[in-house]
Amino acid sequence: MAFELILPKDKKTISNTEYAFFVGHASNNESITINDEKVFTAQNGAFAHSVKLRNGENRIAVKSSYDFNPKIYKIYKNEIKNIYKPKLVELTPALYKVLKDNTPLRKTPEDYGMNRMSHLFEGTKLIVDGEKNGFYRVFLSKNKTGWVAKDSVEAIPEEENAPKFITMKSETFKNASIHTLEFTEKLPYTIDENSDEILFKVYNPQAAEDSVYTVNIKKPQKYFYKTVSSNGTYVFKVNALPYVENALEGLNIFVDPGHGGTELGAIGCLGDKEKDINLKIALELKNLLELMGANVYMSREVDGFVSLDDRVKMARENGSNIFVSIHLNSIPDIKMDIHKNRGTSVYYYNPNSKQLAESVLDSITTGINTRNDGVRTASFAVIRPTDYVGILVETAYMTNPLDSVLYRGENFPRETAKAISEGILNYVNPCK
Ligand SMILES: [Zn+2]
Repeated sequence: MAFELILPKDKKTISNTEYAFFVGHASNNESITINDEKVFTAQNGAFAHSVKLRNGENRIAVKSSYDFNPKIYKIYKNEIKNIYKPKLVELTPALYKVLKDNTPLRKTPEDYGMNRMSHLFEGTKLIVDGEKNGFYRVFLSKNKTGWVAKDSVEAIPEEENAPKFITMKSETFKNASIHTLEFTEKLPYTIDENSDEILFKVYNPQAAEDSVYTVNIKKPQKYFYKTVSSNGTYVFKVNALPYVENALEGLNIFVDPGHGGTELGAIGCLGDKEKDINLKIALELKNLLELMGANVYMSREVDGFVSLDDRVKMARENGSNIFVSIHLNSIPDIKMDIHKNRGTSVYYYNPNSKQLAESVLDSITTGINTRNDGVRTASFAVIRPTDYVGILVETAYMTNPLDSVLYRGENFPRETAKAISEGILNYVNPCK
């Protein structure tokens, strides 16, 4: 059989990206050229190739050494003109309130990236004094502003009396510390971390422009934390990861196979679906972690759709200490290089999860010998919560021809799971 192209599926495609991306596989000794450029093929026939697109119609010829007639792809690239540049508009300071719980307060007026300062509670009162790009600028204190999406808040009438501070206390327990700040109303807060402290700050700009209440909390070595609020009372709880006597005994670990059901995830050069490989690795991982004494919960144990919110909800309901999401990577656009970016990368969002990310990456790249593609940060919904230590493992690249040889290997799921479990163990219990 001559080559089969997995992506793009259609011969006529409209693209808003800079590159067209071809992924497929060739048969034995077949060589593929795309626009007269020879395409690298792995030993199982897998290939991936990108072509830079011009504006308008692009004709791309994919040719096999077995077939005299090339397959022609017409890909139309939309010209991107008049890129919208949002402007900052200064507004007369006015009072607003947050419409629902879990509203991101951001460092920049953008709905992406590592820019969340906290998640505000419904009814939090804010002073808004500017707008940009669909966001309101929130005045927190003299030197600090944040941003909230315009549709997440609504204007409320001016008030005569500013909210008042009532009381503040800290209690320390064996594995946790609880810090309570009480005000007459809900106020904006932020959480920052430096190398040895967590800084929990509540702002009361209606009272004064430098009215900031800060709690400095010494960080345990391994930790997670959580903020709850009712009315104007903020309870900030920092937990040390429970002490474990043997292996992972008693730890609650949540294993999350990415995607599922109609959501296939990435598609490999030979047509493999990411969701299936994620599940195989995750089921092996569950067994291994249970053998090490952990209580393991999973977002799914069969093929099926589970929303991102539900995954987080389940992990919380099960009191998870550690959250591990299993994926395989793909090249979303050509900022990454098809052939250079391969192997394993581990993502985290909050600083409390960096150590685990490093430990798991180290264990996989040495254990199964994948290329080290680095520890990275990314704003993925399942690893944003702070109430567990959370990582997202991209074990290999679905769309990398050489990686496809790895992940199609019979032992890949078990060996990857073993390396992940050892990475978790080294993080939890480094001496054993
Ligand atoms: Zn994925």
